[in-house]
This record gives sequence, C-alpha cells and structure tokens, in this order.
Amino acid sequence: MNLETATIANITGEKYLAHRMYGTFQVAGCADGESVALTRVTPRTASMDYGDKRILPLAISAREIAEDVCREINSDAGERSYLGVFVCAGDAPTEAELRAAREKLDEFYRALVAAADREWERSHSYLFIHDLQRRAAARLGMVKEWHYEARETEECPGCGERVKPGVAVCKSCRAILNRDKAAALGIVGYADRAAGTGASASAADAAQAVAPGERVVDHSRARR
Ligand SMILES: [Zn+2]
Repeated sequence: MNLETATIANITGEKYLAHRMYGTFQVAGCADGESVALTRVTPRTASMDYGDKRILPLAISAREIAEDVCREINSDAGERSYLGVFVCAGDAPTEAELRAAREKLDEFYRALVAAADREWERSHSYLFIHDLQRRAAARLGMVKEWHYEARETEECPGCGERVKPGVAVCKSCRAILNRDKAAALGIVGYADRAAGTGASASAADAAQAVAPGERVVDHSRARR
C-alpha cells in the first residue's frame, strides 16, 4: 500500500469537482462500459491561519484528503445520501469494496425512487421529480410514469413566455417558432401574408414620414 497517495473509486458516470480549503479536486467518472473510475490523490500542505498573524503550514495526508473529498461528494444529495464514491483501502478497489459500494448506492437509489413515487402520488408534476431520481430509476432499470417526459420548456424569442420545444406557434404572442410545422398545419401561409402586408405598410409609412422632414430641412437651408 502506498502511503503517499490514496485512491478514490467512483462507480458512477458522474464527474465531480470538490472545492476544499486546501485545493480543488477533480474526481473522474466512469467512461462508457467502465464499471469504476479511479482518481489518485497526493498529500497537500494547507496554510492554517490562526488569526493572530501566525500562518502555519499544515500537512494533510492523501488519505485525509480522499476521505474528505468523498464525504463532501457523497453528502450532496440530502440525508443519508450516497453517490458512489469511496476511498480504497489499497491502491485499487477490491471486489468486496466494489460490491459494498454498489449495494449502498442501489439502496440510496431505491430511497430516491420511493421519494419520487410519493411526490408523484401527491403532485403528479414532473417539475418536482429531480434529475437524480430519474437517474436512480434508470440505473435500477425501473420504468416509472414520472421518469419519462422530462419535458423541458424553452423561451419564446418573441415574448419570453415558456413554450414547449418544437411547437409551431407561440401560444401567447403567435410568433412562428417552427416554420415547417406551421406550414404543414396551414398556419404559415396566413401568417406570411399578414406579416408581408404589415411590413410593406410600415415601410410606406416610414418613407412618407421621412420625405416631408427632408423638405423642411431643405427650406431652412434655402432661407439661410
Ligand atoms: Zn411568444
């Protein structure tokens, strides 16, 4: 076992960035087809500020750092949360360590799914289902009514209202958002004619508005 380094194992595809007082640590996530991603940590020296003008160096071992980083990451999803990162006893994770981590992660995922079930029962709203709960259901291979339709909205460039992606026309300002779809529905022909008339009318108005103004300027110049 190497005392100078410690190994963090991550059994999920998530990557993490842990900001600690003594440094920032990037924890690798599994690539496709990988079952565990390893990140090596080396010791650091932190500056301890005692508040009385004494700033002393404090050595932090690789293991202390790895434990701290894993605690930070795992605790990020609420009470008793576990996100699948742990410090290996040796340089690489053993089969027993990996099995224990998978069991612990599955247990947390089941708790997340149960919480999502309760939420769905109560609100029937996709808005209250979190990404992590969707990920948990997917990871456990569970098919849930709330899992699908992670339907997001986008902003209408015309009026800023939230609209469903791919809709033909904005429901509040009538802007054409998807020309092909609008044409297929017979909406765009009408809207184009209306917009065309509007554009030429305002262009004519603008031309008329400018012309007298120029003549006025010409008269004043002539008088001088
Ligand atoms: Zn709009």
